Amino acid sequence: MDAGASAQQRRRGMAAATSGAGRCRLSKVGAGRRPPPARVRVAVRLRPFVDGAAAASEPPCVRGIDSCSLEVANWRNYQETLKYQFDAFYGDRSSQQDVYAGSVQPILRHLLEGQNASVLAYGPTGAGKTHTMLGSPEQPGVIPRALMDLLQLTREEGAEGRPWALSVTMSYLEIYQEKVLDLLDPASGDLVIREDCRGNILIPGLTQKPITSFADFEQHFLPASRNRTVGATRLNQRSSRSHAVLLVKVEQRERLAPFRQREGKLYLIDLAGSEDNRRTGNQGLRLKESGAINTSLFVLGKVVDALNQGLPRVPYRDSKLTRLLQDSLGGSAHSILIANIAPERRFYLDTVSALNFAARSKEIINRPFTNESLQLHALAPVKLSQKELLGPSEAKRARGPEEDELESPEPTAAPASASQKLSPLQKLSSMDPAMLERLLSLDRLLGSQGSQGTPLLSTPRRERMVLMKTVEEKDLEIKRLKMKQKELEAKVQAQEAVDPKEKENYSPTLLRPLPRRTGTVAKPLKKAVVMPLQLIQEQAASPSTEIHILKKRGRKRKPEPLDASEPEEKAEDGWELQISPELLARGRQKILHLLNEGSARDLRGLQRIGQKKAQLIVGWRELHGPFSQVEDLERVEGISGKQMESFLKANILGLAAGQRCGPC
Ligand code: ADP
Ligand code: MG
Repeated sequence: MDAGASAQQRRRGMAAATSGAGRCRLSKVGAGRRPPPARVRVAVRLRPFVDGAAAASEPPCVRGIDSCSLEVANWRNYQETLKYQFDAFYGDRSSQQDVYAGSVQPILRHLLEGQNASVLAYGPTGAGKTHTMLGSPEQPGVIPRALMDLLQLTREEGAEGRPWALSVTMSYLEIYQEKVLDLLDPASGDLVIREDCRGNILIPGLTQKPITSFADFEQHFLPASRNRTVGATRLNQRSSRSHAVLLVKVEQRERLAPFRQREGKLYLIDLAGSEDNRRTGNQGLRLKESGAINTSLFVLGKVVDALNQGLPRVPYRDSKLTRLLQDSLGGSAHSILIANIAPERRFYLDTVSALNFAARSKEIINRPFTNESLQLHALAPVKLSQKELLGPSEAKRARGPEEDELESPEPTAAPASASQKLSPLQKLSSMDPAMLERLLSLDRLLGSQGSQGTPLLSTPRRERMVLMKTVEEKDLEIKRLKMKQKELEAKVQAQEAVDPKEKENYSPTLLRPLPRRTGTVAKPLKKAVVMPLQLIQEQAASPSTEIHILKKRGRKRKPEPLDASEPEEKAEDGWELQISPELLARGRQKILHLLNEGSARDLRGLQRIGQKKAQLIVGWRELHGPFSQVEDLERVEGISGKQMESFLKANILGLAAGQRCGPC
């Protein structure tokens, strides 16, 4: 739909709204009533499937429980669902009027008490923010309904003979890449946000248009909407990359002495899409843009959290959006955040991320998402989303070669459900070892209780046995290596006791170089290298595959296998270690696991990660969902590419060798 047509439609929609269908009257302002301290109320709205074909072919990945809570499948564990609770939940059959009357209309009366209010629509592009805020000709949204009611209320309250004269003005602005742009006067450029001595936030130079009727509002609003900065992303052609902020001010002047004045502000905000940049095809400018958008949304999340937890510091000043809302979000203001979510599985990760952003409470429930027949489908969205999240090459790498084979139809005419049940386990080979261990112990437990197995693990017995055997073998191998290391250490200690001269060459904090460990003659090198404990164990098991010693020759490096029988003179200053790719991959995997599963405290246990960075990482993860690769750290605001590299260098070996351990 082109801009003109859509504007025309909206005009018609607003006219329909003005004509009165579904209108509700607002209660009159109670004189002198003091509202209880306000926090940010949070509602979630699930839109229906917009594509009939998709609705027929896939079940929703979100399900309402009651008028305040909903549940989604837990992609980390298919045996659990995530239950979220909010101030209100509007299911896919809820109407525009339900949302408006339930969450927005009740706060409007506070404007006439001289208090501020804000309504924010949050969620990924395509989840229904604009539908909720603006709506369509047939289904007008929050903005036209609120404007209509507010104008009606001010007309009544400000009528001749009443104590107060009322006037309403509107401003319309957008925040794009942390710039404040006046949509009623696009030529005015980036505007500054100021705070007056009474703590009121104002924008000098922002256009304010007086409105007395809904027609006045339309006359200013519709052309200004066309000035919005919108860009086409892969997710949605009409996706907005900016925060659109409609400000409606209600000013009151007392007609008789003492001629008091008061002002109430209402912000109606259609936020930019909260989707993960990696899924929208945003690159270059778009990516930079998304970064700025996500900064505001990230800070908004922190502000809402701080307000609702009663924290002493609310970080309003950290983004333009929150700075603007400083006097209208929290404090004595009445605020509602409507998180919009979509039922399609391709939205799964964005849905979880939006829910985490908005959740007042989250509970993990130990039960499959849906009943037996739906569960098979419920698992599918997660698989798809993960593929979408990773690039095609990464997705293939993560899947491993086996999966391609396994995706082919079952040659034995197994029932469709059985082959579908098999797929999650087929992924176990590429799964995090800690997760694998957990699943297998669950399976063992269920087996010991005589259960036929959970849906997830009800795979052919043979395959389970093979996997369990592999894990057991690994355990045994680790035990064996530990014993061997103890023996070697005892030998070295004995040697040291015999030859005190050699002891002088050692620094007590440094471990022996590898050749000494694996060889039978333990003579020290001049310069020892600090090695992770586990690394030494690994090396003892496979000396030539995991670690090599490199000799520096100018700029070139020549790898030579580590060999205990090497003449000692070769080991001298300038030797370096080269670690096998497998070991590095293991380290990376552990780091990734820690990034995705670790608490801020766990993350602080890593090298180069302090309190602030740990919180940034956890915050990023809450906002965007799991990291798909360790390099994604760079995307975290406040962590540069260089810092990410040095973080990797500092941690990869230690983690690969299992010296440090997070939540695993
Ligand atoms: P966003 O602003 O979050 O990008 P939109 O409001 O543009 O999303 O919604 C995307 C599509 O979904 C639009 O075609 C819209 O009409 C439709 N839609 C959104 N919410 C609903 C709803 N509650 N009922 C019916 N259709 C909806
Ligand atoms: Mg929109």
